[in-house]
Amino acid sequence: PEPPVADAVPQAGGQGLVLLRRVGVVDPASLDDYRADGGYQALRRAFELGPAGVIREVTEAGLVGRGGAAFPTGRKWDATARQPDQPHYLVCNADESEPGTFKDRVIMEGDPYALVEAMTIAAYATGCRKGYLYIRGEYPRATAALETAIRTARARGMLGADILGHGFAFDIELRKGAGAYICGEETAIFNSIEGYRGEPRTKPPFPVEKGLFGKPTVVNNVETLVNVLPILLTGGSDTKLFCVSGSVGRPGVYELPLGTPLRELLDLARPAGRLKAVLLGGAAGSFVTDLDVPLSFEGTRAAGATLGSGVVMVLDEEVDLPAFLVRIAAFFRDESCGQCVPCRVGTVRQEEALHRLGRRRSDEDLVLLREVGQTMRDASICGLGQTAWNAVESAIDRLGAFK
Ligand code: NAD
Ligand code: SF4
Repeated sequence: PEPPVADAVPQAGGQGLVLLRRVGVVDPASLDDYRADGGYQALRRAFELGPAGVIREVTEAGLVGRGGAAFPTGRKWDATARQPDQPHYLVCNADESEPGTFKDRVIMEGDPYALVEAMTIAAYATGCRKGYLYIRGEYPRATAALETAIRTARARGMLGADILGHGFAFDIELRKGAGAYICGEETAIFNSIEGYRGEPRTKPPFPVEKGLFGKPTVVNNVETLVNVLPILLTGGSDTKLFCVSGSVGRPGVYELPLGTPLRELLDLARPAGRLKAVLLGGAAGSFVTDLDVPLSFEGTRAAGATLGSGVVMVLDEEVDLPAFLVRIAAFFRDESCGQCVPCRVGTVRQEEALHRLGRRRSDEDLVLLREVGQTMRDASICGLGQTAWNAVESAIDRLGAFK
């Protein structure tokens, strides 16, 4: 059974919470509590601004996607809003499956109306009448919280034909994944919703032009959407959620300003042993050893890493690094959808070579790993294959794995 949300409650160490401020404070089932705490003020402001005004504020706030890729949200919304082809669809990507990522879960379990309100604003701005909330199947608590929130919002006129009496019609359908990591890839979500195998489509065309059912579609991550509320109310939060796990005394979700040095986050999370390295960005990310790296999209990029979805996985000196890398490789081999050769074959060859290297060092296998890794990066259709070698490469180059 899942641990209750209280176990994953934000541990913000003195910083002001914005995105998580209601989590653990209001009753997540109560629309009245949500409204008493300022809920639906942002939607009212959106109606005052009009769709173009909302997109302008989101663009000016500089919001970028929090699912991992940091694409400018305003640009995505504007591109969809301008498409003449109808209808437009909104998809909230709540298939949070990157190993070490559990931030969206905390929002959905602890503040589900915030996501419902944020989806309504996104739909209003981009001309969508229908939204799909695609949630990973392993999140029963979050699913139940959202089902309650959607049903209650609909019964109280916050979803449906005439939202808040403004003549705007929008509704949300919840769809559950079935345990496949690849179904978090945005175009695999489309296939899954349409009833096909959850396999990615080639991009371009990007979803803003041709997405769900071949129509213009906005896809946003949960945390990205929830950021829109403070943007409309106070100009924005400029905070990011970080998921800290591994060898620390206080694992959990931390909300901190973008750009906070990794060292400060670790001080809050209290590393438990002698620190060896930190894996940023999850299985698809890279190891870093420089604790002064600023936790921003640009700062991590400059350090040859990625902030991704905010994974901060801490490894101490006791960790069996070769076994850890085999575990990551096995994950990608298992989760590859098998559609394209570089990834289908490459993830198998990578795992085999890591197994051999764990037993005996071999220059030949190190060369093979590099060739396979580069081929996956260059020739795979989607992000899974393109990133399946990142962690292994950084372990070899920065941590001296298999020396
Ligand atoms: P991407 O860079 O291809 O695209 C990012 C977003 O921008 C997409 O929505 C895409 O449609 C849009 N986009 C890109 N170029 C565009 C253009 N020219 N016009 C319009 N829209 C455009 O990245 P991706 O493959 O969607 O996502 C990869 C990221 O997902 C990685 O950074 C990884 O960290 C992250 N990820 C997160 C999880 C999780 O659980 N949160 C799981 C797996 C991967
Ligand atoms: Fe499927 Fe891997 Fe190709 Fe992505 S890269 S489409 S997961 S085989």
